[in-house]
Amino acid sequence: MQSWVYSFEEGNAGMRTLLGGKGANLAEMTRVGLPVPPGFTITTEACRAFFRAGNRISGELQLQMREAVARLEEKKGQRLGDAADPLLVSVRSGSVDSMPGMMDTILNLGLNDETVKGLAAVTGNDRFAYDCYRRLIQMFGQVVLGIESIRFEKLLRRLKRELGIEQDQEVSAEGWMKLIGEYKECVKTFSGIDFPQDVHEQLTLATEAVFKSWHNQRAQVYRKINRIPDEQGTAVNVQSMVFGNKGDDCGTGVVFTRNPSTGERALFGEYLTNAQGEDVVAGVRTPQSIATLKDVMPRVYEELAELCDRLELHYADMQDIEFTVERGELYVLQTRGGKRNAQAALRIAVDLAAEGVVSREEALMRIEVSHLEQLLHRGIDEQAAGEPIASGLPASPGAAVGLAVFDADTAAAWAQAGKPVILVRAETTPEDIHGVLAAEGVLTSRGGMTSHAAVVARGMGKPCVCGCEEMRIDQALRQAEAGGRTIAEGDWLTLDGTSGRIYAGSIPLKEAAVTDELQQVLRWADDIRRLRVYANADTPADAGIARGFGAEGIGLCRTEHMFFAPERLTVMQAMIMAESREERLAALELLLPMQQADFEGLFREMDGLPVTIRLLDPPLHEFLPNAGELQQKLQAAGTEEEQEQLRRMIRKVHALHEANPMLGQRGCRLGIVYPEIYDMQAEAVFRAAAACMDGGISVHPEIMIPLVGDASELSLLRERVERAADRVLGEAGMSACGYKVGTMIEVPRAALTADRIAAHADFFSFGTNDLTQMTYGYSRDDAEGGFMSHYLEQKLLPHNPFQVLDPDGVGQLIEIAATKGRSRKPGLKTGICGEHGGDKDSIAFCHRTGLDYVSCSPYRIPMARIAAAQAAI
Ligand code: ADP
Ligand code: MG
Ligand code: MG
Repeated sequence: MQSWVYSFEEGNAGMRTLLGGKGANLAEMTRVGLPVPPGFTITTEACRAFFRAGNRISGELQLQMREAVARLEEKKGQRLGDAADPLLVSVRSGSVDSMPGMMDTILNLGLNDETVKGLAAVTGNDRFAYDCYRRLIQMFGQVVLGIESIRFEKLLRRLKRELGIEQDQEVSAEGWMKLIGEYKECVKTFSGIDFPQDVHEQLTLATEAVFKSWHNQRAQVYRKINRIPDEQGTAVNVQSMVFGNKGDDCGTGVVFTRNPSTGERALFGEYLTNAQGEDVVAGVRTPQSIATLKDVMPRVYEELAELCDRLELHYADMQDIEFTVERGELYVLQTRGGKRNAQAALRIAVDLAAEGVVSREEALMRIEVSHLEQLLHRGIDEQAAGEPIASGLPASPGAAVGLAVFDADTAAAWAQAGKPVILVRAETTPEDIHGVLAAEGVLTSRGGMTSHAAVVARGMGKPCVCGCEEMRIDQALRQAEAGGRTIAEGDWLTLDGTSGRIYAGSIPLKEAAVTDELQQVLRWADDIRRLRVYANADTPADAGIARGFGAEGIGLCRTEHMFFAPERLTVMQAMIMAESREERLAALELLLPMQQADFEGLFREMDGLPVTIRLLDPPLHEFLPNAGELQQKLQAAGTEEEQEQLRRMIRKVHALHEANPMLGQRGCRLGIVYPEIYDMQAEAVFRAAAACMDGGISVHPEIMIPLVGDASELSLLRERVERAADRVLGEAGMSACGYKVGTMIEVPRAALTADRIAAHADFFSFGTNDLTQMTYGYSRDDAEGGFMSHYLEQKLLPHNPFQVLDPDGVGQLIEIAATKGRSRKPGLKTGICGEHGGDKDSIAFCHRTGLDYVSCSPYRIPMARIAAAQAAI
């Protein structure tokens, strides 16, 4: 018979897939002798069977649960439903991959009108017993019966108002009894059934509800973002209760073994006296810092610190731990690898390696490169910031600027429309996850740094400020008030998740510097990786940034970007408008020195490193205004001469019109139709090289011909480049400069005939944007603005192939081309230069395929260096 249920003594950390993360870790902690309240786990297999049976618990599972309960009763010396001394349990969700707060949990199960009296009598504490009971009715009402939490909260608020008190802890036993009566009525009104008095029925219903919470909306959204499979299902943990709400020598809290925002090695956490776990993680009360526990319960604090050390060492990673103190006794209720932001991840990885807990390789593998980008970006420009209007808890670092919105749906809608938003909420609830995802940053007036919203924001690398109590948020009016100012929906707001400060308006942000930890990790990565990392950079300024981030060359300089400056554009347009070769040459004559100056700047920045220069690529019409615009100008034009000029341009625009510009006269086809354009560019490259070499700079130009589809194109154009080199540099200069001529492989035919093309190429650079377009036959602009979203939603494609390189089709072409190319020319240099150069999966593909380098935008270089090392480990 299959086992659906495991007691904590029977499992271990390796059984995550079966027991879920929480269950496997509870078992592991039990196994190594930590103070875990006993209990058992119902497996994820049982959950899947439950779904298959149309959301029904099988007779077999019922039976196994009864047996497990009986064993638990024996262990605890208490019985579920015993009116004299009842066993109480929690029923907790627990998926394979941690999904903090996304599913449901019920505490204090086992209480009813009779057992609550028993609990009061055994503990001699009426207030406590009835507090537990009202919590059970509320949680059960919400989770099992689907009653909105606001229904219960309203009643609680009214009670406190009537009693003239503010804090839950001040409510007396009589107060809770009264509330329980009202809660039961509330349950009856909104669900149509009575709160179940049969405790076994409570357990069955709660288990079903936790299974079903796998499918609630926030859990679905969370899975989508984190690429967690929908089929997995959740385990259910049934655990005997310990109580943090018995009095002032009790409490509950969450502690991280290191600071999840900075990585600092110091306990980081929060704690509430006389409370149950939900109060901390749900963000309903703003808790105290863990340091206060040191003063209030020094012995417990010490024990907790020891426990943290043990768990961290045991798992060889920073842990996020839930604990409860009952009458001075410490219990641990959960541990998991702590979510952390990029800065903390780096520091923790470096420190753990230095402490000898993990190897450098392990430390590198733990870094989530997609988060690094955020680290390399923005902070508040303090000089320009002025006075903050409020400040709260710095829950997730980084700065964000956006329009204030007060609910998650609006956040999602506005972000969809391209507006940056800051999500402002009174409380932090996991239901807001789609809003958090859409927002630049998150701001809440209540809740602590371990509340689920903060945890989720950190995990996503979103700036977040929590518990900003000076800010009064009126959800209904859609406005907030702080520091004497009113922020209405749509007003600009800036928040700094590093300091916790909030500013009205849009404050300029500044770029961040590379920290010591990042430098350290990058040095390790450099020792390990085989792939070289180049930058896509079009200007000396970009090249400078790229070199600062460790670029080992420029893999793509798009020369057309040099022509878009206004004073150059007119010359470029004159060149395009030229009606004879002579006219065209005259215009090119003017462009030559401009282009030469650009290349000199690049060579200087990249002294000693290769610079890959792509000759003109886009269709010429991109340099002219569109016909409609020109018509309008024509209406307004004064002189006859101006009008004639505009008419000529309109005729040219029409003449250049193509049905399919992406497949039209662009790339090397331009160089074939107008050889003088490429001649000018080659000449500018070599003149710049000569000038720089004279100045003692080591120059390595690599001239790249785009969009070649047949070897004959490259053969022809290469010859012209060589003639230019000969003309400008002469024999001696040529050997000193050691330039290369190569091509982009971005047309499928080029990949398939790569051996013939390699005969004329010193290098191949895979232009994976065009290669993806042409392999799929998707025009990128039309796909991304249109049908791609349908393909992704219907799971016809696993990813957008313009973001993650398609290994099967596009990748196969790359492999073919690399193999064929090297068969013809063994030393052929190969790399990629599309958007994919900065994506970690694509980088791993390049490593496997044996390419020599990847080239990506300057800010992605640190990521690419680490991803290249991860690929090599
Ligand atoms: P989540 O996955 O949403 O964090 P949990 O199952 O961890 O849900 O439970 C929520 C809170 O209830 C936690 O703070 C936890 O410590 C507390 N809790 C769960 N089970 C027990 C128990 N048996 N005794 C005391 N507190 C508990
Ligand atoms: Mg938890
Ligand atoms: Mg291209």
